[in-house]
Amino acid sequence: MNFWKPVLGMRRWPLSAKLLILSSLVTILGFSAICGSVMLDMRHGEQALAKQTSENLATSIDSDIGRTIEQYDLSLRAVVSGINTPEIGQLSRELRQLILFDKAASSAQFGAIQVFDANGDLTIDAASLDPARQNRANEDFFKVHKLDGERGLFISVPRLHQNAYSIVLSRRITDAEGNFAGVVAGSIRFSYFLDLFDRLRLNPGETITVVRRDGVVIMRTPFDLNVIGRDLSKTQGVMRVLARANGSYSGVGAVDKILRLFVWRDSGRPLIVIVGRPWDGIYTLWQKQAWRIGAIMLALIAFISVGTVFLAREISRRASAEGRLEQLATTDALTGLRNRRKFDAAIELEWRRAIRMSRPIALLLVDADYFKIFNDSFGHQAGDQALIAIASCISTAAKRSGDCAARYGGEEFAVLLPGASESDAREVAENIRQRVERVPADPAQLSVSIGIASMRPLVTMEWTELVQAADKALYVAKAAGRNQCAVAETTHRLQAA
Ligand code: GH3
Ligand code: MG
Ligand code: MG
Repeated sequence: MNFWKPVLGMRRWPLSAKLLILSSLVTILGFSAICGSVMLDMRHGEQALAKQTSENLATSIDSDIGRTIEQYDLSLRAVVSGINTPEIGQLSRELRQLILFDKAASSAQFGAIQVFDANGDLTIDAASLDPARQNRANEDFFKVHKLDGERGLFISVPRLHQNAYSIVLSRRITDAEGNFAGVVAGSIRFSYFLDLFDRLRLNPGETITVVRRDGVVIMRTPFDLNVIGRDLSKTQGVMRVLARANGSYSGVGAVDKILRLFVWRDSGRPLIVIVGRPWDGIYTLWQKQAWRIGAIMLALIAFISVGTVFLAREISRRASAEGRLEQLATTDALTGLRNRRKFDAAIELEWRRAIRMSRPIALLLVDADYFKIFNDSFGHQAGDQALIAIASCISTAAKRSGDCAARYGGEEFAVLLPGASESDAREVAENIRQRVERVPADPAQLSVSIGIASMRPLVTMEWTELVQAADKALYVAKAAGRNQCAVAETTHRLQAA
């Protein structure tokens, strides 16, 4: 595309346009770096916030569950110590019931506390003075206490009992001789957990999992019966949770394979609470902000880029226009050589330089011979062509860098040769003269006379002295018959030679 062509071809741009492009690039890169680092900071901030809120959530759930279990466990302990008090056995059923369950926590979410003898038969039930016969010797909680005297509080895997899911909390009864004498058991209904989780407003995809110390899931929200009771102790995530008291990790959930940030709190209680938050949700807000900032940045970059290219093109266009104007203002329209104005500026500059560097400077004044007659004989147009031919001979002969060939007046030319000694200048002059002589003789033979002056200027001298000397020499050449070079007799001639 034409618009981008100058951008790719950077060499065509002037320095100011290049600087503009460079500063725009640096600005864009700087802005992008600042934006990138702000967005990264924001991302870390979201991550830290998600971690902190998950930790707070896990802590509050953990302490609620812990308090409830503790409260219920106190009731179980009270019953165990009551059973172990011999006097209570001698009391009437009503009185015994009253004393044993006096301190028992009661709530719609707690099941009635029951006492089983060493065979697993129900002997005392907080809910009834005359309980129906039942034997629960096959249940986990009974077997665990029967086999393990040191077990303390045991929390069972959730199970369906009397049409409601509940977990059983149990303690062993040990008689005076240290033998197994039965189990005191009570239950906490699932409604307790459901009420607790209902009070929290979870975002989509967030999970709370309550696991037992052996990795068995006791409760999970979103509620899923297939997950509850599952042993996750062999999954990588739960293995991590069980290994350390508190912490967090990023991983795929054992249940639904969604990448989440898991944070857990383990205050030493029998159950551990794990809060899971999907990364997608954590970064939702950040992603929105990132898109917005990114879009603004892109628009800004596009604006700066287009503006820069536009301005750079404008600068370049103006620079080349200035160049063309400068060229026009300093070039002679007919011959293409420099004009008088440029020559005056050049001789001024080179004269000073020659003084500063104490080196010679030479000037040739070239004048076409009998040009009036030429014009009169062949017409002004032929005269113009002859002037163009002479100019071409001059520029071919004086082509060292620093040489300045100019049209000095009508059919008169000036050639400034900085650093040229008299003999160098004579050589260039002779070269010009011979070249003009060789210009095809149609319609008539052309020739030039050349006045040569070379000086090593002193601080006190003016460049007009050089011009005057060359002019005098030109007069001498004309007087001597034309078509020849003459060297000026100057006081500094010896120095320059
Ligand atoms: P001399 O050998 O003594 O220099 O004789 P000359 O005729 O060249 O000198 P003179 O100064 O008498 O005449 C200069 C002539 O140059 C007069 C003028 O017609 C002609 N001339 C000056 N400028 C131009 C130009 O631009 N084009 C053409 N065709 N002729 C020009
Ligand atoms: Mg002349
Ligand atoms: Mg003349």
